[in-house]
Amino acid sequence: MVSQMPSTGIRERLGELCYNAGLLNPLQKMRAWWQKDLRILAYHRVMPVPDPEHYAFDMELISTTPEEFREQMQLVKERYRPMRLSDVAAAINAGETLPPDAVVVTFDDGYDDNYRIAYPILKELGVPATFFISTGHIDSGRPYAYDWLVHMILLSGAPRLVLPELNMDLPMPATRDERRALAGQVLDRMKEISALAQAAMIRRLETQWKMPSEHAYPPECRPMNWDQLREMRAAGLEIGSHGVNHWMLSKLPRDELEREVFDSRNALLRELGPMPLLMSYPVGSNRAFDRQVIEVTRDAGFDLACSYISGTNPHPADNRYSLYRIAVERYYGKAWFAALLAMPGIIGYQTPAHLASVDEAKPCSH
Ligand SMILES: [Zn+2]
Repeated sequence: MVSQMPSTGIRERLGELCYNAGLLNPLQKMRAWWQKDLRILAYHRVMPVPDPEHYAFDMELISTTPEEFREQMQLVKERYRPMRLSDVAAAINAGETLPPDAVVVTFDDGYDDNYRIAYPILKELGVPATFFISTGHIDSGRPYAYDWLVHMILLSGAPRLVLPELNMDLPMPATRDERRALAGQVLDRMKEISALAQAAMIRRLETQWKMPSEHAYPPECRPMNWDQLREMRAAGLEIGSHGVNHWMLSKLPRDELEREVFDSRNALLRELGPMPLLMSYPVGSNRAFDRQVIEVTRDAGFDLACSYISGTNPHPADNRYSLYRIAVERYYGKAWFAALLAMPGIIGYQTPAHLASVDEAKPCSH
């Protein structure tokens, strides 16, 4: 599916080799001479990896375990310069260059493990971070729609998966593994259609399969609440917008796009008080935001915006409304993570500047 995937094993081994040989630190120092770029890490969920046979939600949202997250943050603290995203914005506004080896830690969506697990670790280590939340889910406590869709496909008793919106009509697979793979395909394909059609498709399945999300608040996919976010903010962490409904902003009519951006901003200010305005586009791939989305985001007063396109930012002032990030995945080991930060261009995916087409960008289903 992704052109870079076959070489991932080689990159991982190269990273491990450099890590085990103690080469990462000198390599990082050497690289800092000629490459001063802002690295922004992107996480979704931090939680123990559950047994996929019993866990009925999207495994791909799990970025790392609590133990690995602590190790990762320790490394960021010891070897890099952790920064608040709002300080990055302030430096850009002042025309200042960022310190070498600046690293920003970010989270998307707003799952409650961010509060329960990530926040205490960040607080203890004194590492700043920004949590991008979909404000409608914080208001309602309802599960995130893509995660709920995966949940429904994993558990549905329907004999077939019939999705005319995506030209899909398949027998429902028997095993959970096959269903997970199918759910991944559905998530990928549905991101081609309009955001409102995506929402309508999920609602239709909820009705047909009698699995309504509005009465279901399973603890496995619970969003944070405003009280938790107020506490995190009081402790110095930053909260930003990830839309209201987690809709792909480029796939909305202009009035709905404006509602998502402005209403999420207003909810943040209403609930949390005045703050620097930071945005992360839901899904965040090349097909999830465009010139119009950037324009509305800037007009709403947002200082910066993150994409989910893989890469680092050599000149963040130039792409302050489409900042590249380094996604952390649950299968990264300690060595791989360290190498990814030390040599992002070699160990990570290619930077977007090198990508020939949208299809080459790292896929993101969230
Ligand atoms: Zn998201």
